[in-house]
Amino acid sequence: MHIEPTIIHAIQAAGEDAPAILRAALTGIPHGRTGIPHGRIGLVSSFGTESAVLLAMAAEIDPSVPVLFLETGQHFPETLAYRDQLIARLGLTGVRDIRPDPAQIAARDPQGQLWAFDPDACCALRKVEPLDEAIIPFDAWITGRKRSQAATRAHLPVLEPQADGRVKINPLARWTAAELDAEMTRRDLPRHPLSHLGYRSIGCAPCTRPVGEGEDPRAGRWAGMAKTECGIHV
Ligand code: SF4
Repeated sequence: MHIEPTIIHAIQAAGEDAPAILRAALTGIPHGRTGIPHGRIGLVSSFGTESAVLLAMAAEIDPSVPVLFLETGQHFPETLAYRDQLIARLGLTGVRDIRPDPAQIAARDPQGQLWAFDPDACCALRKVEPLDEAIIPFDAWITGRKRSQAATRAHLPVLEPQADGRVKINPLARWTAAELDAEMTRRDLPRHPLSHLGYRSIGCAPCTRPVGEGEDPRAGRWAGMAKTECGIHV
């Protein structure tokens, strides 16, 4: 379960250079041209408005990188279509849908309304518990979080050791929304179909609304509730 120290050192040597961090994580060599895929590092993606850049960078290094997508059953249809579009465009072969246990859904949320009165329990059922199980084979996981996304992420490090011995790797920690937008344009990457409607951070449909000018990109997530994270990053 512990990431190899050589990979940690390679990531540290990469500083805040996102492609070099990814190359270090996936091959053990931050600036080399080739390496041996490590295979015990996964990438967790929401296939949201800002997911494409990280996925494109990872695909350039290893298109078979395991990509975990939490298929909660509550996504916008546009997100599922965008996931399929990016898989085809980037040639990703390791994307897997992580679903909640149907027996647990039947027992704890048979009407699919748990989000309305206990969103923490809903996220635990649909995201945290399925990911906890799916992540077992991996030593580390790569996320697309950025310091610029929200005040709660202002001090996000590139390397985040976890209590269970795993490490989260955040290659885009220093990136701003403007830099990501420019990189998407430079790479001619497709946009999430809802991004032009004011959705700047997209999760499950019942818990996501568009945001206005000057709002945190994540202000539209669980708006009106005292909740800012789904629980997989706390
Ligand atoms: S984001 Fe909303 S619908 Fe999705 S798992 Fe969490 S509470 Fe449930």
